[in-house]
Amino acid sequence: MAKVTIDGIEIEVPDGTTILQAARMIGPSVAPPAMCFYTKLKTSGGYCRTCLVEVTKGSDKDPRPMPKLVISCRTTVMDGMVVTNQLSPRVLDARAGIVEFLLLNHPLDCPICDQAGECHLQDLSYENGNYTTRTDFERRTFEKIDIGDFIQLHMTRCILCYRCVKVAEQITDGRVHGVLNRGDLSEISTYIKEAIDNDFSGNMIDVCPVGALTDKTFRFKSRVWFTKPVDAHRDCDKCSGKVVLWYKGEEVLRVTGRKDEWGEVDEFICNTCRFEKKHTADWSIEGVRNISRHSVISANKYKNLVKPNEFHLNDIKAITE
Ligand code: SF4
Repeated sequence: MAKVTIDGIEIEVPDGTTILQAARMIGPSVAPPAMCFYTKLKTSGGYCRTCLVEVTKGSDKDPRPMPKLVISCRTTVMDGMVVTNQLSPRVLDARAGIVEFLLLNHPLDCPICDQAGECHLQDLSYENGNYTTRTDFERRTFEKIDIGDFIQLHMTRCILCYRCVKVAEQITDGRVHGVLNRGDLSEISTYIKEAIDNDFSGNMIDVCPVGALTDKTFRFKSRVWFTKPVDAHRDCDKCSGKVVLWYKGEEVLRVTGRKDEWGEVDEFICNTCRFEKKHTADWSIEGVRNISRHSVISANKYKNLVKPNEFHLNDIKAITE
């Protein structure tokens, strides 16, 4: 075990824990933001640099501070380490620079983007970015491409976090997409435009922190804050079948995996559950979804919370109005 102090709060964690994981164990007030790290995807992290922190004491054995800011998702804690995150002006300044960098080519099209309201880049820029831009250059733009029957790639919005590539590599069988080229020519693409049609490809939509990969069955149907999320499950032979149904009125507009308080899915779901089961009758309803992240989705909803065991199909109308 190792003792680490983050923003003045001490915690004891198992050896090998990263600073980011240790900070998450303490809670959201000290946890650094992360755009590319994803707990359930091996080797994720190390691309976006939003989670950088200052190590003011390396360890009890070697108390020297680390001269440069370090990325917390890839740096493991040492016994006696002292870290500052929100309390470090150096970190806040560097993070504002990272946000500016991520927004260099990202379009400011939140008013028409399907990800608005659940976009991690939107949250990051509000919480850590500057109010103005210094960019005079034209942003790079790409044509939208359909990758497979259900997913649309709008590369213009991509921040090259590699999460979708890790999903393709680790969750689906036979990856057919990845990052092509290098530097400012880098782009996510399906090589020779081959379609992604395997059973778990839809999870790329859930892991994408911005609106670069969107669900074609949901695009432009509703702003996410006008929908009402409900937990549901079904017997599925490919995945756990545990999902969130997003209702508008009595219509299921989309189906997604369930996300935790860090915005990461608990269990990856298959394409059949996600794209082909859009009727209430396909599902056993568990109850209203409590969106734990600080989110506009939870605003003004579910004043009269229904307990799962008191929940019936007839209640859908009542709770979604
Ligand atoms: S498409 Fe989305 S998930 Fe994939 S690299 Fe770009 S931002 Fe990340």
